Amino acid sequence: KQRWSLQGMTALVTGGTRGIGCATVEELATLGATVHTCSRNQTELNEKMQEWQSKGFKVTGSVCDLSCRDQREKLMETVSSVFDGKLNILINNAGTIVIKSCSEHTLEDYATVMSTNVEAPYHLCQLAHPFLKASGTASIVFISSVAGSMALPRLSAYSASKAATNQITKSLACEWAKDNIRTNTVSPWGVRTSIMKPEADTAYVVEFLRLIGGTAMPRIAEPEEISSMVAFLCLPAASYITGQVICVDGGYTAGGCW
Ligand code: NDP
Repeated sequence: KQRWSLQGMTALVTGGTRGIGCATVEELATLGATVHTCSRNQTELNEKMQEWQSKGFKVTGSVCDLSCRDQREKLMETVSSVFDGKLNILINNAGTIVIKSCSEHTLEDYATVMSTNVEAPYHLCQLAHPFLKASGTASIVFISSVAGSMALPRLSAYSASKAATNQITKSLACEWAKDNIRTNTVSPWGVRTSIMKPEADTAYVVEFLRLIGGTAMPRIAEPEEISSMVAFLCLPAASYITGQVICVDGGYTAGGCW
């Protein structure tokens, strides 16, 4: 077994068309994995798959709105048939954000954040469990956020959703170690992706830049700086790491906002 390779392994990465998910698809494929990904936009998915094919990556994709239960079930049926019932890697990456003070959150905002960021990854873990177990050596990685362990301005529902997956990580690590499934979480700080959309909200930009300015490394991350940790956690080299929530944050949580 090669300690620094994913050759021969199969992976599902949710939300692989943009941002951290896209970087993760490419990182896993570069290390030799065969990858399936999903998003809600067929056109963007097709464009990405063409690009990946031209780079020689083995990637398939299907449309899925992860906030819908029946679509998650269909996704996992597809994954099972593409990978012949064996899945080594599940990356729960897709997520959504609502930036409002607590009093401004509607219950619909709360429900959207919770169904996409908590219910969907939890259910995908349940659905994937038999295939992860059947692969013989498996790894689940959640993409959480520093917001899951520290209060950040105007992110109460989002923070709660990320705190929930941090805890699910620990529970599954303990429940499924016997099935040779490791479970870990990567918690990024600011990353250059489309999720932020700060241009719509100048007050948020000001708040956010102040926080970034107080980070030991006062800049946001590139998606590749997150996907490298995600990939590492899936490697045979990480075989004794489970139940961990690992911040990739330029030192933000080391110092808070100085
Ligand atoms: P992006 O918005 O750049 O990408 C999100 C991806 O997920 C897209 O491919 C999107 O495709 C897909 N997606 C979103 N919602 C759904 C859904 N309901 N069903 C299926 N696919 C979906 O986000 P990031 O890369 O920034 O975020 C990835 C993860 O990283 C999230 O969990 C986020 O919370 C976390 N994170 C991000 C940080 C940042 O600063 N960027 C910081 C900390 C954590 P489409 O919209 O077409 O469906």
